[in-house]
Amino acid sequence: MEDCIFCKIVKNEIPSIKIYEDDKVFAFADINPILEGHTLIIPKNHAADIWEITPEDLTAIHIASKKIASAIQKALNPDGIALLQLNGRGVNQVVMHYHLHLVPHIKGGADLPITNWEIIPGDMEVIQKTAGKIAGCL
Ligand code: 5GP
Ligand code: ZN
Repeated sequence: MEDCIFCKIVKNEIPSIKIYEDDKVFAFADINPILEGHTLIIPKNHAADIWEITPEDLTAIHIASKKIASAIQKALNPDGIALLQLNGRGVNQVVMHYHLHLVPHIKGGADLPITNWEIIPGDMEVIQKTAGKIAGCL
């Protein structure tokens, strides 16, 4: 896609710090790392989000994520790695080219806010009704 910054990264039209690539995916360092080692994996084919990406590209992203998460584990020895993926402006997706974030947490380092939400029991009736609504659309 012409005006897509991540398509430009794939085509090497703008620079990036490459970590991995194969025929379907490209992985590079995030320039605004949440924590050290923050890596992005993107499909080479443009797709905005989870609704647009093909099952084949999604599979390739997740196979690569295992490979790269293992490399991060070896390189940085984190005590956890969050895999995070945003879809839509309402959840603050900024770049509209599908990307999976890999964010390692180094022992003793700052907390990753998204992994630290408050556990509040839900209303079982509402939970059941909503789950039924979703299941009914499959
Ligand atoms: P989103 O909120 O869309 O999931 O996150 C987009 C991510 O892309 C952000 O973490 C941001 O730092 C990263 N990003 C945006 N522009 C560039 C860029 O030009 N190069 C790199 N390496 N990362 C970028
Ligand atoms: Zn794109």
